[in-house]
Amino acid sequence: MLDKKVVKELDIESYDRGKTHKLWLHLIGDAMGNPIMIPVILIRGIKPGGTLGITAAVHGNEINGIPVIQRIANQVDAEKLKGNILAIPVVNVPSFFRNDRRFVDKVDLNHIMPGNKKGNVSSVYAYRFFDRVIKNVDVLLDLHTASFGRVNSYYIRADMRNKATAKLAKLQNAEIIVHNPPADGTLRGAASALKIPAITLELGNPNVFQKGVIQACLTGIYNAIYHLGMLEGDIVPPKTDAALCSHSYWLYTDKGGILTVIPKITKVVEKGEKIAVLRDVFGSVISDIRSPERGIVIGKSVHPVNQTGGRILHLGVLK
Ligand SMILES: [Zn+2]
Repeated sequence: MLDKKVVKELDIESYDRGKTHKLWLHLIGDAMGNPIMIPVILIRGIKPGGTLGITAAVHGNEINGIPVIQRIANQVDAEKLKGNILAIPVVNVPSFFRNDRRFVDKVDLNHIMPGNKKGNVSSVYAYRFFDRVIKNVDVLLDLHTASFGRVNSYYIRADMRNKATAKLAKLQNAEIIVHNPPADGTLRGAASALKIPAITLELGNPNVFQKGVIQACLTGIYNAIYHLGMLEGDIVPPKTDAALCSHSYWLYTDKGGILTVIPKITKVVEKGEKIAVLRDVFGSVISDIRSPERGIVIGKSVHPVNQTGGRILHLGVLK
């Protein structure tokens, strides 16, 4: 840790061009007065241009984005780069230590962006992160995964009515793209409010590194880098086009029990198709759960212990 420079502000222009800088950004102090710092990778291109922001682990247990950023940091040659890449492999540092989605005060950082300068524990952390990091970027790719107890496809959430974000979404070679206007409180929403084109990349499952998803995401980010004219290279088209969804929603159980969700991720289910079975603890079937309409399985619960109102699956309604 001590071999890296510690800073309290990020003044991108003050760093040498043509180099990759690895820094600690001191955001807040813990109860011992020790700094809580986030890792910052600044690939400072030799030629002037805009800044591409890449963030991971806003939710502390969503870690597939970390190796993606590490590979970008190791591979991109700053001497060839136009503009800058500003990448944060772990945004939510205190929760990363605890393998936890939420911040230390149980608040979801992705519900309170851009935070509050004079706010409580989570909102001041969100504010300082947003103010010191995100305000420097011109385009944002925010890397997430499913939550604990669930699995996801590799899918993109983006405003497909916005030309810039629709293009970024399509470049990611994901399995599914869900049209989703940026919501208040999310990092994507707060960036969009500043006219920063931003998309959310949902990279599979929590608490793990998944090779295939990491590789697919890396290809997509390079596609974005080429598209933005930051490096020269050929955009790799997807092997199969992403399934486009006009919207999506979660299905919830209306009874408690032991839940088995049947279809695989990315499967298209028909209206009335059996998608889950709910059993009582003695093994008798309580109910078969059927899909209310035709759609694609974006994500699903893999945690069988299900109280009434538990999540079943995330259904994408195809365009
Ligand atoms: Zn997340």
